[in-house]
Amino acid sequence: MHIMKKFMNYYKPYRTVFLLDMICALVISVIDLAFPQILNYLNNTFYLQTKEAILDSLVWLGVGLLIMYILRALCRYYVTAQGHIMGARMESDMRQDLFDQFERLSFSYYDKNNTGEMMSKLVSDLFDISELAHHGPENVFISLLKIFGSFILLMYIHVGLTLILIGVTILMLIFSLFQNRKMQATFMDNRRKIAGVNASLQDSLAGIRVVKSFANEDIERDKFAHSNQMFLQSKENNYYRMGLFHAGNNFFQGLLYLTILVAGGYFIAMGNLEPVALATYALYVNIFVAPIEVLVEFTEMFQKGFSGFKRFLEVVETKPDIVDAPDAKELKEVHGVIDYEDVCFSYNDEEKVLDHIHIHIDAGKSIALVGPSGGGKTTICSLLPRFYDVTHGSIKVDGKDIRSLTLESLRKAIGIVQQDVYLFTGSIKENIAYGKPGASDEEIIAAAKKANIHEFIVSLPDGYDTFVGERGTRLSGGQKQRISIARVFLKDPKILILDEATSALDNESERHIQKSLEELAKNRTTITIAHRLSTIRNADEIIVISENGQEERGTHNELIALNGIYANYYRLQFEGLDFDEDMTKQ
Ligand code: ADP
Ligand code: MG
Repeated sequence: MHIMKKFMNYYKPYRTVFLLDMICALVISVIDLAFPQILNYLNNTFYLQTKEAILDSLVWLGVGLLIMYILRALCRYYVTAQGHIMGARMESDMRQDLFDQFERLSFSYYDKNNTGEMMSKLVSDLFDISELAHHGPENVFISLLKIFGSFILLMYIHVGLTLILIGVTILMLIFSLFQNRKMQATFMDNRRKIAGVNASLQDSLAGIRVVKSFANEDIERDKFAHSNQMFLQSKENNYYRMGLFHAGNNFFQGLLYLTILVAGGYFIAMGNLEPVALATYALYVNIFVAPIEVLVEFTEMFQKGFSGFKRFLEVVETKPDIVDAPDAKELKEVHGVIDYEDVCFSYNDEEKVLDHIHIHIDAGKSIALVGPSGGGKTTICSLLPRFYDVTHGSIKVDGKDIRSLTLESLRKAIGIVQQDVYLFTGSIKENIAYGKPGASDEEIIAAAKKANIHEFIVSLPDGYDTFVGERGTRLSGGQKQRISIARVFLKDPKILILDEATSALDNESERHIQKSLEELAKNRTTITIAHRLSTIRNADEIIVISENGQEERGTHNELIALNGIYANYYRLQFEGLDFDEDMTKQ
């Protein structure tokens, strides 16, 4: 009932439409129920009246029927158009709620859930919900009205015949409910199988370069053929069931009419039923039976729609892990002093990723995190903008616990450049402006110049309006990285995180970008994670982190003098293939 109330809430904005919809449904049902009565009346009239009287009554009857059918058409129009529009609007409201929730949810949620799967499930769920939302009430209301209305009239015409009718109807209902269950199960199976086909297709297309480079087209073909075949089989199954369902229903309806005619004929022969009344009766049987099928289908529509709505609620009602404290304050006039005080962290309860970490960085200073992959460097950085919350200890910016600050003001104070750059579908200009929504063209160009990408952009035929993103102009990794750096220049944060910003680039691009990054880091508190040690040699402090926690810390010279892990790394890079001329300048 709780869920029902939440479902009803989505009707609230459309109360008037809903009410009118129901009234129209009522009018339609009453008119449909009236028709056999009118026919019956006509029959009686025609029997008893003179020619003049018949012609006379035909005129007002014709006008009366015309008005009635116009009214029914208007109501039908309203129910179909407005009813569907109402459903579509409710669906759109839910979709928006869902999107808003996706924006609110924390990283930990996305760690646990496959977004692609989530999306496709929710698309079909929302469809089921909207189907239920607009067809549900109207179908149930019209059907029940027709069933009860015609039942009363059938009883009124002949009780005995109606009892026989009910008997056959119950048989039909049992068959119908049973077959419908089976049929719907095959529909569900279809949905799962087509998801499999889509997943296989998407995977192959996304990885087409890998497929071709390994010349594995045949393997991919077989994988796809398998899921394609599974889907086909499921479809065939579905059509067998559909055939059985409809043929069965058809047969039972025939049986119904057969019974009515034979039994009715018997009652006529016995003299307790008028032949004209049997004709009227047969018309009502039609009105009585048709909605039963609709109701049978509704039971499944209800189940699907409601379980869809439950899944929808599950997502919408998930509490994001990380939200503003009730008394959260704005982080204003940021200096950029950062303190990690006795910080512990784990993504799940099993494995501790950070164990009692202490870091202090003065405003405008820089530290570097060095160590093997998986040591927890990225994790340390993720805690600062509160992508995750510490499990022990605290992190402070300018002496204030970050949990006491608003997320927005905290995150506006931090700029991040990562290895992977995501460009949104849109122009280069829009992508840079992402760093400061509403930035002027001058600001955007200034940022691009600082990131050393301006010249490249203006050399493109469309300049700053060049379309990038999934189907846009292909940019090299270095060019993309520069755009992301321009973004951060525009954002102008006091705190900067550079997480392997250049690791994916070749030496040449790296050297160029390094200059932009140094420029970006000026007057900002900076945490750098770098693979190549040359880039961090000037950091005010270097912390060596491994799976065992913090191993060494100090300036470059101190660590070299210590002759430990860092010194060893340094020698390896110096002597190894990763030779970098900067390193020789000591
Ligand atoms: P680094 O940046 O030093 O390579 P990370 O901070 O990325 O290391 O990872 C540290 C540890 O945390 C690794 O063992 C990694 O598997 C784990 N880890 C990283 N991200 C997640 C996540 N989102 N969920 C669970 N475990 C994670
Ligand atoms: Mg990392």
